[in-house]
Amino acid sequence: MGEVPMLLLALLVLHLSEFVVWVRPDVGLFRRRGRGWELASSGALISTVRGSLHWVYPLPGWARAYAVPWTTVNQPAGDPEGTVGLESVFSRSEVERRRNSVETAFQELRWLSWSLMAVIWVVAPVTLQWIGFRSMLWIVFPPLLVLMAVNAVRVFQTHRRQYPESGDERLRLVLSASLSPLAAIRSADLVHKEALEGFHPLAVAAALPGFRDWEKVAAVHWRRLNHAESERNDPGPEASSESARAKRRAWMDQIERLALERGLNPAAWDQPPSPTDPTHTQYCPRCRSQFTPAAVACHDCQWPRLLPIPS
Ligand SMILES: [Zn+2]
Repeated sequence: MGEVPMLLLALLVLHLSEFVVWVRPDVGLFRRRGRGWELASSGALISTVRGSLHWVYPLPGWARAYAVPWTTVNQPAGDPEGTVGLESVFSRSEVERRRNSVETAFQELRWLSWSLMAVIWVVAPVTLQWIGFRSMLWIVFPPLLVLMAVNAVRVFQTHRRQYPESGDERLRLVLSASLSPLAAIRSADLVHKEALEGFHPLAVAAALPGFRDWEKVAAVHWRRLNHAESERNDPGPEASSESARAKRRAWMDQIERLALERGLNPAAWDQPPSPTDPTHTQYCPRCRSQFTPAAVACHDCQWPRLLPIPS
């Protein structure tokens, strides 16, 4: 392989390595897929108990992804009064408004990102091929440095306006964008990562155009609320206080409202399944796994109270 193709291959590997996102287990990552959006759940590049590594499309704009914490689902106690602000946490229109306003604020970064792409992926290879390595450096470096500097300054200023609380993330973004032109290409999308924090992931999913599998994702989380972790071992009144139950009910109501808005019937989420095998006579109401009569608890989620599958 010649020197130019070798160099381009190395550059491509470095470029692709920028387009991965680390996701903690308590966070939902929304990424572009096809013409719509999806929740990155399966197909992780690396998966551990501390989180998983997901890839996004390696092009500015298409690499957009939102990280939205789920924690509030299992711990509605995050809001002491339970229902204060719940309407806005679950508001599809507020998600849309926030998304559009962040989009507008960071719009100019897109042009910087595409300009950097053009210098690195068009100007550099062409000049390298025609006039050699040294002259290529003279042509490529000045615009590259100017674009990186403008990008870093604009990321810092706009990020500070949009996320005044998020100083650590800002420092990380600006530093990486100042040190590497390939990382600078990424900043136009990475600045959006925390834009929808504070909203419920199911409201985000409902607001993103062309989101796939909303009902599947919603039903799973609705069942986890309905058959909550805290009641797993002790269904008695002490283990699960009335107020905790009321909070979970309020969250479920909001999810049901989103479902009805989408023309879905949330009542179907708690119906017994049809057996996937003739020997299955019981199912887990929490995760829907099916079992033979010998099972006493769910093997998958350890839920202790299996229900019969009606024949
Ligand atoms: Zn289960």
